[in-house]
Parts: sequence; structure tokens; C-alpha cells
Amino acid sequence: MIEEDVDAIIRGLEKDNISFEDRKVLVTGGAGFLGSWICDVLVKQGAEVTCLDNFASGLRSNIEHLMEKENFTFVEHDISKPIFFDKRFDLVMHLASRASPFEFEKFPIQILKANTLGIWVALGIAKKHRARFLYASTSEVYGNPPASFIPTPETYNGNVNPVGPRSCYDEAKRAGEAFVMAYRLEHGLDTRIARIFNTYGPRMRAGDIYGRVVPRFIEQALNNKPITVFGTGEQTRSFTYVSDEVEGLLRLAGIEGLGGEVVNIGNNKETTILELAELIKKLCNSSSEIVFLPLPKDDPLRRCPDISKAKKLLKWKPKVSLEEGLKKTIEWFKYYSSS
Ligand code: UDP
Repeated sequence: MIEEDVDAIIRGLEKDNISFEDRKVLVTGGAGFLGSWICDVLVKQGAEVTCLDNFASGLRSNIEHLMEKENFTFVEHDISKPIFFDKRFDLVMHLASRASPFEFEKFPIQILKANTLGIWVALGIAKKHRARFLYASTSEVYGNPPASFIPTPETYNGNVNPVGPRSCYDEAKRAGEAFVMAYRLEHGLDTRIARIFNTYGPRMRAGDIYGRVVPRFIEQALNNKPITVFGTGEQTRSFTYVSDEVEGLLRLAGIEGLGGEVVNIGNNKETTILELAELIKKLCNSSSEIVFLPLPKDDPLRRCPDISKAKKLLKWKPKVSLEEGLKKTIEWFKYYSSS
């Protein structure tokens, strides 16, 4: 199932002659949800991939199938601690970080470290090798934008609470972006920043403790347990299927002449959380009831990207509808999820 999507991503990239064949790529957080998909595509395209992860939130099962490949090397390491590589890299992709709001409360220091100390280590590696650098940033740098900035363009500077429950993530990612810009300014690195919007699909972690909204609702619906909508469910997110997101990220990493660019990569179709709950319930043929729980503090009201820049620079737009992507994700959770 994942393999079909990986092939579709490669077909999409190759249509515009984007190839990582023989490129030496370091992927931090390579055993995570997005990182492992990126490793899959790169390995299949013939890149020489070094995947670094400390399994804080990444899973060995996400990359087990790559371990025997000769163009794949795994290094177990926490990127917030220095590491020396004597091999050369052409491209460093920094994805290492926990990203689930449930973890903001449990592991705020790890999150801050991955996006400050960790990005400093990763940028140091890129600087030494004069490698291109791609940072997986987030829509969370925008915080809670007013309606006049929905859809949100890259030029919106954000409305973020620096001492709130999400600040370990939002402010760490904002600091991470500042690190990237500093290395570009001082060392002339070829850097690219992707602002990723809510992405879902196979290999997301589920369970009550770590799950993001899509895997939580799917697990609840498949088990006919109550679907837990926070607040009234009128808050919105714009959900991107993983194959669309990964193709966008690899376009940003692979296209020449994009040094210094900051690009939103996400679906621009806004969905309320209540609509999501109802759709997942329907697609799972579930008898779950939908229950309403308190809305967490600082939960953004609306989130939707302006993707004109991605369309223009990356020749990219999302192809997979929410219903189609959810069907694939539900199938995966039925048969493959280990949680
Ligand atoms: N959410 C929800 N029920 C859940 C988990 C999340 O209603 O069981 C809501 C959450 O309050 C937020 C949205 O779903 O408004 C997306 O949450 P997620 O944890 O996926 O990440 P976020 O987009 O907030 O970073």
C-alpha cells in the first residue's frame, strides 16, 4: 500500500526531472512518520541515504524494511548532541522533532532541543560539507492567525503565545527557522524552509497518548469507542495526505535555485474537526458516538495555507482528496498499525 504511493511520488517527481539518484542525503528523524516516507522515496530513487533517529518518537518498524538496502545506512543518535561524519553529504533534511500536541506537555525540553541544539548540529554538518539544507518547519509558526490571514501566506509573521502550552513547539520551530536564516546569511548555505500543515496517512502513531487527531479518530471509530471532539469542533485544519506532502518536500529539496525560500506545503481545503469526525465515522462504518470535550488552551481556531508560492515555485499542488486519503489511512490502520 505504501509502496504504491511511493511509486506515485517518484512518478510525480520524475515528470519534472527531479531525481536524487546518487545524491548523498542525511535525513534526521528518518524513522519518523514523514522521515521514513522520505527515506523510502530517496532509497528507491537511488540516493545514498543516511537516516538518523534516536527513536524518541520514530519507530524502528518504519524503516526495518530498508535496513538491508545497500544505499541505506541507519545511525541511532540524538541530533541535539554533536555527531561527526567523515562521509560527505549533498543534502541535509532536518525532520527530527516530536510534533503531537499531547507531547508538548510531556516532552517540551526534547522538542525545544531538537529544533535549537539539534538544528545547530544539523546545520553544522551541512556547513562542513557545503550541503543543501531543508528544514521541516510547521504552520505552527503562524500560531493563531486572525480571519484576515486565512488562508495564511508565508509573509504572515504569526500570533504566538511564547509562554503557552504550545510554545515549546511553536517557538522552537520559529527559532529553528531563525537558525536556518542565520546560517544562510553568515555562511551562504543553500537553505530551504518548508512550513508543513497537518499531514496524515499510514505510519502515523496512534493511541491515546501520542495520537494526532486523524489517527485518534480512526482508532476510536474502528473500535466503536466515543470519538472525542475537543471544543465545539468548529475549529478547522487543512489536512494533507502524506504522499502529497512528501512530494512537495522533495520538490522543495530537489529543485535548483530555491536557496533562501520559505514555502507553505499543505492542502488548502479547510475542514472543521466535527466534519472530520463525521467523515471518519462514516468511512469506518462505525457506531461510535461523537462526544465533546474541553478545547485545549491556545488550540488554533483556523488553519489553512495560501499555497500560491508552492504552486509557482514547486509546480506542486495536492492531488489526494480527504476522503481518498482517509480511506487509505483507515485501511492501513485496520491491517498494519501496531498500536
Ligand atoms: N482534536 C480533537 N480531538 C482529539 C484530538 C484532537 O478534537 O481527540 C482537535 C484538536 O483540538 C485540534 C485538532 O483536532 O483542534 C487537530 O489536533 P492535532 O492534535 O492533530 O494537531 P494540531 O493541528 O492542533 O497541532
